[in-house]
Amino acid sequence: MPGRPHLFIPGPTNVPDRLLRAMWRAQEDHRSTSFPALTRSILDRLPAVVGSTTATPFVFASSGSAMWEAALLNSVPLGSRLLAPRYGQFSHLFINTAEKLGYRVDVLDVPWGEGAPADAIEQALRADTAREIQGVLLVHNETATGVRSDVGAVRSALDRAEHPALLFVDGVSSIASLAFEMDAWRVDCAITGSQKGFMLPAGLGILFCSPRVMAGLDMLNTPRAYFDLRPMRDNNAQGYFPSTPATTLLWGLDESLTMLHEEGMANVAARHFRLAEGVRRAVHAWGLRLCAARPELYSDTVSAVVVPDGADARRVIDIAARRWNLSLGSGLAQLAGKVFRIGHMGDVNELMLAGALSGVELALLDAGVAVQPGSGVAAATSWWRESAAPLGS
Ligand SMILES: *Cc1c(COP(=O)(O)O)cnc(C)c1O
Repeated sequence: MPGRPHLFIPGPTNVPDRLLRAMWRAQEDHRSTSFPALTRSILDRLPAVVGSTTATPFVFASSGSAMWEAALLNSVPLGSRLLAPRYGQFSHLFINTAEKLGYRVDVLDVPWGEGAPADAIEQALRADTAREIQGVLLVHNETATGVRSDVGAVRSALDRAEHPALLFVDGVSSIASLAFEMDAWRVDCAITGSQKGFMLPAGLGILFCSPRVMAGLDMLNTPRAYFDLRPMRDNNAQGYFPSTPATTLLWGLDESLTMLHEEGMANVAARHFRLAEGVRRAVHAWGLRLCAARPELYSDTVSAVVVPDGADARRVIDIAARRWNLSLGSGLAQLAGKVFRIGHMGDVNELMLAGALSGVELALLDAGVAVQPGSGVAAATSWWRESAAPLGS
């Protein structure tokens, strides 16, 4: 099909031309004396993205979910108890990883569309009088349902229960897009990957560890090999990596950090809110609803849209792709066929999203969902116009 494809899945996201150019490089010697400058430029600038001045960042050649494994094995003794709410496919997979590694997870099941239940977490921690629970696992932004949870509220729950468990936060679809306050929330491990907010291809797992985790690294009994943070820490200190790093992606990450810091993390988050709010207004103008149960749970990086009874979201997604060159996210697990997801994360602006919303309208109509043509686009563009920065002279 001529023209650009419209990629509006919640990761991988669109790679801006500037980052493509930054990665358009010859392969190089990662043991050269000039290489540490790149490593340092990246590692020095990563913590600000998660609102931290104290975290130690790690970059692996892996996808994001590998950092679930890296975080756990480098911070909690094997076999210990963990606590985790489950409210979507990604919280499910995080729990599943912990269980496969040999941890015992107390799961708090919550209806999909809800967020992390701070009160239930507090109760569960208070009930653990023996202080066996070593960590609380949380998915900040549940990409399957389009729900953002309140990490600060969960931190307060730990504090109120006076429980010493570590706090693990999967921020794969929030970090570098939404406000993330690692220091303020006292997060111990924050987890992400390259292909969402960082606007890069998949291939880098990024992990941030608190000083408490770093202090315990050498004392653990867990089996660790590729994801052992100790050789990574020691090599990084000299500006190198224990094995061959994904150098091309590292050049991309370095430029991505420059872009993020140029825009400013607060502006990045504000842009994501403005764009997302336009999408939400479109959804409501179509007479449809979001999977997220309440406005305070709405995610600014992904919207999961529930199709009316009798309609099949898979058909909407298939028509959008085949007829209109628009990729939408599918419904995962129990949401298959019930929702389609619109990703609005990373390198996106109003008119890109207006195109995507047009495509959604067309695909909905093609799939037999009676929406008023143009109604969603009109609602979104009205909002973007009223919330736009004033025109300079
Ligand atoms: C995308 C995503 C992941 C998985 O990351 P991979 O890079 O595919 O391993 C994990 N958690 C959340 C919340 C995600 O959105």
